[in-house]
Amino acid sequence: MASGQTKIRVRMAPSPTGLFHIGTARSTLYNYLFARKNKGKFILRIEDSDLERSKKEYEDDIIEGIKWLGLDWDEGPFRQSARTEIYRKYIKKLLASDQAFYCDHSQEELEKEKREQMEKKEAPKHICHRKGKAKKGIIRFRAPREKIVFNDLIRGKVEFESDLLGDFSIAKDEKTPLYNLGVVVDDAEMKISHVIRGEDHISNTPKQILLYRALDLAIPEFAHLPLILGPDRSKMSKRHDSVSIRQYREEGYLPSAMINFMALLGWNPGTEKEIFSLDELVKEFSLERIHKGGAIFDLDRLNWFNSQYIRQMNLDELTKKCLPYLPKDVDLDYAQKVVALEQERMKKLSQISETTKFFFEDDLKYEPELLIWKKMASKEAKANLELLEKKLSEIENFDRETLENEIMPLAEKYGKGELLWPLRVALTGQRASPGPFEVMEVLGKEKTLKRLKKANNAL
Ligand code: GLU
Repeated sequence: MASGQTKIRVRMAPSPTGLFHIGTARSTLYNYLFARKNKGKFILRIEDSDLERSKKEYEDDIIEGIKWLGLDWDEGPFRQSARTEIYRKYIKKLLASDQAFYCDHSQEELEKEKREQMEKKEAPKHICHRKGKAKKGIIRFRAPREKIVFNDLIRGKVEFESDLLGDFSIAKDEKTPLYNLGVVVDDAEMKISHVIRGEDHISNTPKQILLYRALDLAIPEFAHLPLILGPDRSKMSKRHDSVSIRQYREEGYLPSAMINFMALLGWNPGTEKEIFSLDELVKEFSLERIHKGGAIFDLDRLNWFNSQYIRQMNLDELTKKCLPYLPKDVDLDYAQKVVALEQERMKKLSQISETTKFFFEDDLKYEPELLIWKKMASKEAKANLELLEKKLSEIENFDRETLENEIMPLAEKYGKGELLWPLRVALTGQRASPGPFEVMEVLGKEKTLKRLKKANNAL
């Protein structure tokens, strides 16, 4: 345990240089779960010290995304851009004790050195032997050459040879820290007990440990989460599936499904249980059950979770959530009937705009050939539609059961395909759709008869 720190305090420290990423969202979730499980605090810090790459719209997207997932934080959002005076104090301290220095090598010299090292197949690093007098150039840390060992709560013992690091840069000037120094100062100032973040940061950890030591600050515990991989086992990127939470949100994935899916992307409960609410996750979560190996992102699995949550939803609520994907100003009762029909087969909410289009169109267009079942003659299809029209106009109660009871005997007599296929196509205009009785119940008598007439005319 980090010296003297017993209270659990974790943080999420996204850089607002892109849309809220699925990897960042998963790290946010794990930090949240760890904090809530241990009755600790969860802090949100926006790492916007790179002013050129940081954008307000990305910050907004990240914060909105975290809220949408329902992962409330306790302190923050703090912004690095508002903390320059704090960094100045630490940078001055390092400079004063000669643990940091202004490096006066030019960009060209550094690049030449890097090229030569790469040619010799050495890890690129810069060790400065020239003492810069002027207070200009980048500020570097005089890194002690020693082995750094730390215990990662997920990966176990991790060792780094620090001669590989060189005198790494830590600040652009006395008030602008680079990532490694900024993160150390902030994590120390915010009394972070556990740093839980993606494995892509593991190579930064030895640098950070050296800075903690140089500044005489308590070192937190570290837990590096496995990378999220695409199905080909390379690091997940846009090439595979979307990586931005916004896109999943816009396509109609529910936050509860995203949470459940992401929780199991690197962590397992040790049982067969798959469906977890956020509260259940808080109860079950532990760092011990996070795997070391990469976690493969499987869109089918996400779809499965989403469909499970869609099925569980009450119809009123689901209908409301579907409204953005349905035509404007739909009648709510009608929309609800349509949604009820789709609820069981929906994988994501946005699907509903395609699958139910025909319910909202007044003027369906028919391909005449589609109205004809197999080798049936067009005349026969026409006659069957007329027969159906007549029969249906006599039915008062347009509920599924009555319709089925009245029409099925005719289908037995004239052939199921021959009668029900033209009927279903007349109602929907489509090759595939829900069955004709369900569709007629939703459409109602008037629309049904109108559609039959129109299809008949198309033949
Ligand atoms: N700002 C860093 C990032 O976005 C934070 C890394 C960390 O958690 O230390 O990746």
